[in-house]
Amino acid sequence: MRKQRKYLSEWTQALQPWIPGEQPRGRRYIKLNTNESPFSPAPGVITALQAEAAQLRLYPDPTCAALRKALAGLHGIAPEGIFVGNGANEALAFCFAAFFAGGAVRGADISYGFFATLAKLCGTAYHTVPVLEDFSIDPDSLCGGNFGVALANPNTPTSRALPRGGLRSIAESCAAQGKVLLVDEAYISFGGESALPLLETLDNVVIVRTFSKAYALAGLRVGYAMAHPALIEGLNKVRNSFNPHGVDRLAQAAALAAVYDTAYAERCVAAVCAARLRFASGLKAMGFTVLPSDANFVFARHPNHRGDALQSALRSKGILVRRFDEPRIVDWLRITIGNDEEMDKAIGALKTIVAPR
Ligand code: PMP
Repeated sequence: MRKQRKYLSEWTQALQPWIPGEQPRGRRYIKLNTNESPFSPAPGVITALQAEAAQLRLYPDPTCAALRKALAGLHGIAPEGIFVGNGANEALAFCFAAFFAGGAVRGADISYGFFATLAKLCGTAYHTVPVLEDFSIDPDSLCGGNFGVALANPNTPTSRALPRGGLRSIAESCAAQGKVLLVDEAYISFGGESALPLLETLDNVVIVRTFSKAYALAGLRVGYAMAHPALIEGLNKVRNSFNPHGVDRLAQAAALAAVYDTAYAERCVAAVCAARLRFASGLKAMGFTVLPSDANFVFARHPNHRGDALQSALRSKGILVRRFDEPRIVDWLRITIGNDEEMDKAIGALKTIVAPR
């Protein structure tokens, strides 16, 4: 294997790929490690997929016109201000290529790790500023200087959100330098303030969303970006240089059906938020420190237990959670909010680990 490495371009050898959370095969786990929805997609999604399957001999609409129109109606913006990609991750990758390649970007030291991967891919210098002691982001630390900015809001793995005023300051500071503010709103349905109103007055803000969380479609791979049409044109240019047919027929049809039933998604989100509240108080009762969460997961640590020990003890009881080997957060667990039964089991398991009788 090592011998064959010479066939890889230097560019590929230098890449530092992102490692997604585990998708186990074989044993059935309670999966609280990758922030998926515990619910099924809306019923209309299944019907739409069945109908669309009959059309698979034909290429999909490369412009995703129907889905963009529906999203435009949902968010009150023009369809020209929307780009649809294969998951938020692809939209983010195209954003890095379109706005940041060869330049410099600032982000938080504790944030979505994929940003650093994309920066490497695009030859972008990625500078981080420390989040505060309580894991919130000081907007002033991201203002000033000749940088673009990339943020997840609500942030992962911390689950904390930056209020819109802070986002506005950062966006205005970027605008003064002719730079873009990229806001990844993968978790915005579960809390926090969207940057969406900023699009009315600022032409340098790009918002990325996903169908993977609130719409329960992580297996489908659909995400989208919203921005000034000139920036969306840049994303199309990048996409059409990689994979011009973009998003497949099934994905477009299913995502469209999901948007038609936002009431279903809202009920799922409400159930997750209620379970989050219950779970967080259960954790606190056991002595955990739990950050206030605006996402479909919580970030928590126990003063008397190491993170790796907790994670592997949970695993041996059939429960997967996520942990990041980074100095400031090694002992913290990121725990996805599942359904009530799953969260009861997680609390039960943790009780036997941190407070055995
Ligand atoms: N952004 C953030 C902040 C995420 O946590 C995730 C999930 N890992 C994604 C984007 C990926 O979204 P998608 O499934 O749409 O690619």
